[in-house]
Amino acid sequence: MLCDRHHRVISYLRISVTERCNFRCVYCMPAAGIQLAPRAHLLTYEEIARVVQVGAKLGLSKIRLTGGEPTVRRDLPDLVAMLAAIDGINEITMTTNGVLLASLAQPLKAAGLRRVNISLDTLQPERAAALARRDYFDAVLRGIDAARDAGLTPLKLNAVVMRGVNDDELADLVSFAHSKGAQMRFIEYMPMGVARLNEQNKLMTAREMLERLKTHFDLTPEQDGDLADPARGWVCQRTGARVGFITSISEHFCDTCNRMRLTAEGGLRPCLHQDAEVDVRSILRSNGSDVAIEQAYRDAANLKWAGHHMNDVIPLYSAKEMVAIGG
Ligand code: SAM
Ligand code: SF4
Repeated sequence: MLCDRHHRVISYLRISVTERCNFRCVYCMPAAGIQLAPRAHLLTYEEIARVVQVGAKLGLSKIRLTGGEPTVRRDLPDLVAMLAAIDGINEITMTTNGVLLASLAQPLKAAGLRRVNISLDTLQPERAAALARRDYFDAVLRGIDAARDAGLTPLKLNAVVMRGVNDDELADLVSFAHSKGAQMRFIEYMPMGVARLNEQNKLMTAREMLERLKTHFDLTPEQDGDLADPARGWVCQRTGARVGFITSISEHFCDTCNRMRLTAEGGLRPCLHQDAEVDVRSILRSNGSDVAIEQAYRDAANLKWAGHHMNDVIPLYSAKEMVAIGG
């Protein structure tokens, strides 16, 4: 079993398959993009599968593919199939901007992907283009339908909520998600990387979002929530619409954190907000043993903080952009 110093069991690995992205979201990366790592530094699918295989022996059971935009990496269904074949891995999910799902949803499902979270910050095409700095709104909507039709369900739609930017759309987003059979999830804006320097006072807490939504929906807390799921769930008694809040800032959920991350370049990273990584790529590429990879997991678990410091008087922010860590 993989346990950290604070007695939390690690069973969930979020894998960034690429730092590349076909969007340039204002809250995630600079307009000009980021300095990409040389292609040769990226873990191959075989290398990722080996890291997961060793992790599964230590008790990893859930995988989420992310990035960057995971769907821009070529032949992604091949990776899903390789991971799905590993003993002990019983759930593979993905977080995506949805743009390429119209063609990829079916092959990903066939390869063993269970479900997807699709980012959708707004229902207004012009606003979407301004936020993503790319005009792909219609393709995202087609991607949402394709995911539902392929059975990548229960579908979740994620919006990063920013005061004065898209906080006037909360109720519309909940209704839209419900019309697609999806749960809407609102993420508190985290000031990270370059974006934090440009975006002051954009945070809206989940509590305030909930108060606003209660004027439209008869919301009560969901009873059967997964404790390790960072989203706190609510359901509208009248319509059955479901909504979740990811309260990374206002009530961070570090006590029940069961995750670790693998960056596209092969760093095992104990926490999104902690600039510490254990290099597994060098183990993989120097004929390192499974025992050495196991030790890398244990080293990363030992580094894991009790909780992130985003609310502290002197905040500690990651030196990397969100897109480069894998959100
Ligand atoms: N490209 C995919 C996507 O956008 O869904 C996956 C990678 S993205 C980095 C993962 C998640 O992080 C998305 O839901 C995105 O909205 C969220 N995210 C990015 N920057 C954020 C920020 N500054 N605060 C809160 N959430 C953020
Ligand atoms: Fe790309 Fe996702 Fe970041 Fe937007 S949030 S820039 S889609 S990685």
